[in-house]
Amino acid sequence: MLLVAEPSLGEEEKAALAAVIDSGWITMGDRTRAFEHAFADAHGVGDAVAVGSCTAGLHLALAALGIGPGDEVLVPAATFVATVNCVLYVGATPVFVDIEGLDLPLMSLSDAEAKRTERTRAVMLVDYAGYLPDRERWRAFAAANGLALIEDAAHSAGIAGAGTIGDVGVFSFYGNKNMTTAEGGMVFARDETVLERIRLLRGHGMTSGTQQRLTGHARGYDVPMLGFNHRMDELRAAVGLVQLGKLSDWNAKRRVLTESYRSLLERHCPEVAMPFSAPRPSAHHILPVLLPPGAEREAVVDQLRAEGIQTSVHYAPVHHFTLYRERFPGVALPLTEEFARRELTLPLHPKMGEAHVEAVVRVLARALARIPTAACQGAAP
Ligand SMILES: *Cc1c(COP(=O)(O)O)cnc(C)c1O
Repeated sequence: MLLVAEPSLGEEEKAALAAVIDSGWITMGDRTRAFEHAFADAHGVGDAVAVGSCTAGLHLALAALGIGPGDEVLVPAATFVATVNCVLYVGATPVFVDIEGLDLPLMSLSDAEAKRTERTRAVMLVDYAGYLPDRERWRAFAAANGLALIEDAAHSAGIAGAGTIGDVGVFSFYGNKNMTTAEGGMVFARDETVLERIRLLRGHGMTSGTQQRLTGHARGYDVPMLGFNHRMDELRAAVGLVQLGKLSDWNAKRRVLTESYRSLLERHCPEVAMPFSAPRPSAHHILPVLLPPGAEREAVVDQLRAEGIQTSVHYAPVHHFTLYRERFPGVALPLTEEFARRELTLPLHPKMGEAHVEAVVRVLARALARIPTAACQGAAP
């Protein structure tokens, strides 16, 4: 089965894990700190805080920025549910914003402006599919309205500028992301005091950790604020250090495969639209395409699966989930909804080659040709 996403793990990761076990120290310590420094360096920022997941990092970001009950946070619905759940964790109210368009499925600035109220305190931007939103326009919008800007950079690890668009940026190292620690995340913050608050909140709000006390760097600790256990551990950090070393090569491979998809789809499946037609910085995390209007997606999915090709949908809109429908009824986001109805995510990961892309496009063309309303033109590759 050709999978939508697949982690690249091997001997180096095994050796790194064995070294942590041999060292006798498995919880947060020097390797986690080294991973923070290395990940920050790789993105040209000064420092970072490693966390247990991107979800944990987004939660800490909102908490550190003081977002809470009575506050509204502008969020996309075209995202993974975790982006929006975090707003509920701190007792704030998510306000759903539509996408710019079918070719640019990033949060719409004009709809954000329309949804902004007196109570709006923050914006959650998502680097959907790895593509970065417009830094200057969002910063200007946030500054003009006194809003905090939080970037969910779960899809964009490894490219210049990712995680630095707003006040806080948060990455994910879940198993299907561009690099993985199985579970894990990393936080950047523009303001050093915000980053240090996030560091404290990560570990129960304690002013020193176990290792610092053991090594005599700290005697006791105080708890000045209510924190959480959102730590990373040495095993994950060791895997993260190995993966980080390969990330730019993997992202380059993803870019090449994405370009192949674009030219082959244009040639052999012109009725299938591939978003992000204009150049834009991207980590090419996933490969979303839009099936022709009216094409029966389930039939296409079944035919691809029968030929050994897995597909996925990114995303079922968050405002349609039962939890959100019941709490925030009557939300309508026409562009997000049309995008979600027609979207299909094709396999994209660095273990793939050109021949895989050709095979996917060939099978997709054949599948669409069988659907009378949406025949593909052009010969299959
Ligand atoms: C994967 C993902 C998350 C959650 O990341 P975890 O590390 O699994 O918590 C959040 N937002 C987006 C857009 C994601 O794709």
